[in-house]
Amino acid sequence: MTTPEAALTSYTDALAAVLVEAGSLGTEMVAAVAAPGRVLAEDIIAPFDLPRFDNTSVDGYAIHAADVELANRDGFADLALGMTVPAGDVLRGRELTTGVAARVFTGSPLPAGTAAIVMQENVEPHGEALRISAGLTLGQCIRRQGEEFRSGDIVARGAQPLTPPLCALAATMGLAQIQVARAPRVGLLLTGSELVAPGQPLGDAQIYESNGPGLAAALKLAGIASLDVRSVPDTLEPTVAALSELLEANDVVITSGGVSVGTYDAVKEALQQLGVARRIWRVAIKPGKPFFFGVRHRAGHKTAVFGLPGNPLSALVTFSVFVFPYLRAVQGITAPVQTFSATLNITIKKPAGRLEFVSVTLSNDASGWRATPLGQRASHMLGGFSQAHALAIFPAGLERLEGGQCIECRRLPWT
Ligand code: AMP
Ligand code: MG
Repeated sequence: MTTPEAALTSYTDALAAVLVEAGSLGTEMVAAVAAPGRVLAEDIIAPFDLPRFDNTSVDGYAIHAADVELANRDGFADLALGMTVPAGDVLRGRELTTGVAARVFTGSPLPAGTAAIVMQENVEPHGEALRISAGLTLGQCIRRQGEEFRSGDIVARGAQPLTPPLCALAATMGLAQIQVARAPRVGLLLTGSELVAPGQPLGDAQIYESNGPGLAAALKLAGIASLDVRSVPDTLEPTVAALSELLEANDVVITSGGVSVGTYDAVKEALQQLGVARRIWRVAIKPGKPFFFGVRHRAGHKTAVFGLPGNPLSALVTFSVFVFPYLRAVQGITAPVQTFSATLNITIKKPAGRLEFVSVTLSNDASGWRATPLGQRASHMLGGFSQAHALAIFPAGLERLEGGQCIECRRLPWT
């Protein structure tokens, strides 16, 4: 018996019901090198000016203002070499006077009286002297103290993912540790009596378990703290036992399979026994209709539970559109997933009633993005999705979208 579409929750309502539960888990300090993928919890404030002191942007010679003027007027000026200042050298009051140049290297501090740096390629030996030529500008090749940030400036705003350049910027400010949102601890329960772990021999009517590896790979990108994976057959007792432990120890529990309407689907019954309050079950989407979401509060500890359908495409699509936004939101990233418009390359059809997430490849031409739907759109098929650049959103009410029409697309967590 099929569920009337009217009994299903809309995608928008289901996502809202998920995100309304996404409260902060607090913050913690992590080493900057461990921070990529995590979310910056607070603004980074400059503790000093950056650059911290005037320095040279090239290997060359520091010269005095009077010599800049002289070279520009006469076409050249001959200078004596007064000192050498390697990067990291302490100046101790050394000063540049007229007629004297200082040898400097990229990053060297500048002796007092420096008005410009001449690149070493533009300096010629002339007898004992160094000859510089006209065309100089005061201040050339000098990186000024505070030209990028002043002490007290906001260097980076909180609630954004720590990218490699942000980690480097934090290190520039001297931060060995970064304050990040506490990442969720995640439990994953794989259900299905027909499943065998890859690497093991397959018996008749058995299939390889693929949602575990797929979801674990996707979870890595969401910046989680830990992942505890369990497998159970389709019977109530082991399902209850495994879920009980996972609910206790984690902030988020994800189940795979067993949330549909089959006789052997034990997950919903087990969750109910364990006090998980159902918020959503069955959403008007394809793939992913049996999606379940609930929460459990026990002894001050909250666990969000995502029941993903077992079909491999359904599991990863519902992860992308519900679980991933939740994992980001509990870490402070609450902006809606960015969508963009693309022109469909071919006509697509479906029955009205459920919104369909269509795997597409993207290309770019003068008119903007173009989306080409991938074939094999059934819930048990991963081939198309494995090549997808984005999910196109085929709205619930429509039965047909013509080639040349616009379609809204969203990036996948891993693209
Ligand atoms: P279920 O949601 O448990 O009814 O499963 C739906 C379909 O997905 C069935 O064909 C299952 O064999 C398959 N399936 C369930 N879990 C997995 C898994 N972890 N890996 C691969 N296929 C699965
Ligand atoms: Mg099953």
